[in-house]
Amino acid sequence: AEERFTAANPESRRLHAEAAKAMPGGNTRTVLFYEPFPLTLASGEGCHVRDADGHLYTDFLVEYTAGLYGHSHPVIRGAIEAALSDGIVLGGPNLLEARFAAALCDRFPAVERIRFCNSGTESNMFALSAARAATDRDKVMAFRGGYHGGVLYFAGANPLNAPFPMVMADYNDAENAARQIAAEGDRLAAVIVEPMLGSGGCIPAEPAFLQALRDATAKTGALLIFDEVMTSRLAPGGLHGELGITPDLVTLGKYLGGGLTFGAFGGRAEIMDRFDPRRPGAWPHAGTFNNNVLTMAAGLAGLTQIYTPDTAIALNRRGDALRNRLNGIAEAMGLPIRATGRGSMMCLHAASGPVRRPADVAGMPKALRDLLHLDLLEKGQYLARRGMINLSLPMEAPDLDGLAAAFAEVLEARAGLIE
Ligand code: PMP
Repeated sequence: AEERFTAANPESRRLHAEAAKAMPGGNTRTVLFYEPFPLTLASGEGCHVRDADGHLYTDFLVEYTAGLYGHSHPVIRGAIEAALSDGIVLGGPNLLEARFAAALCDRFPAVERIRFCNSGTESNMFALSAARAATDRDKVMAFRGGYHGGVLYFAGANPLNAPFPMVMADYNDAENAARQIAAEGDRLAAVIVEPMLGSGGCIPAEPAFLQALRDATAKTGALLIFDEVMTSRLAPGGLHGELGITPDLVTLGKYLGGGLTFGAFGGRAEIMDRFDPRRPGAWPHAGTFNNNVLTMAAGLAGLTQIYTPDTAIALNRRGDALRNRLNGIAEAMGLPIRATGRGSMMCLHAASGPVRRPADVAGMPKALRDLLHLDLLEKGQYLARRGMINLSLPMEAPDLDGLAAAFAEVLEARAGLIE
């Protein structure tokens, strides 16, 4: 499969070798690298991307959920073009940011006040710093398998991690987390959790687990932070809105910037208002591009004109249907492959039973995972090597049919290797 891939993609291969002279590994995002070399993408339109060798793919990577609107959505494009004609960076409050902030506060129930930054990583760093300042405490609890940004990554060894003293706990183990929170007592500033593990394999949190975190933190005064950088797309008011659990702070990013660089953090007014510069001892919050006009324009247009609550519900229903369909295909063949997830986000795993924790899906041998990925690419299905599949709004029934058919063919062809 690798040889066929290499032969079919000479231009991507050449570009990667060239790029690797200036950038270690040939690009600047570890997550985009795979062996033998990643495809270089030249263009995208709707839910399709074209690579440097001219092959067309249906894009199920969806920029790790940030590509919700698809490539060059006309409304987003129009909003960016309109903003562009008034200048790119202005260096003052602009006409769009307050409207965008208000739209986000309207939409996400736990977000009474919000501030912008430039990435999901930054939003989590600010939220955690705010929690530490608000509580005058030091430690932060996170969960194994969680991902909160390049320097807050708990799915494996990461020597760049831990800008804060961390306490680690197991995802979806309510009792243990509650016990650890109680034991940390007034040393623990915050608990940060994804309401569904995204990068960690699309494993939804059990509502009772999240509720236990809410209850335990309320007792000790630690702040509960929901990282909804990915999951805010899963329901009109994010997963916290859907589940009716109110964290103290919420972090946002990805598609909410309309496809441009974006992050935001918000939550309870009482905490967030400490950023008000008119207050004595206000917390500073800087960032040259925090209110950059193009992101504000794209994000506002996307949230208010495209991803309305009804559209969010419809997209996530389609995701549920696709996930069930993929699982039906694997089950009918008797193969231990499962798609986990919720709504418009899912991930393929080697597993046959229910998947509750990262440890339940640790099993896919790397060689098999890599092979399935190359097989799917060869059939025009562009997805992340780790098996994550995301929906975007431009996808139509034939695009989803195409993925299901390719999935069935690949499983059929490789059934002997999947045990
Ligand atoms: N939190 C979660 C849950 C994420 O999935 C990501 C990105 N994959 C981040 C934070 C970091 O966002 P960014 O890449 O924009 O820094």
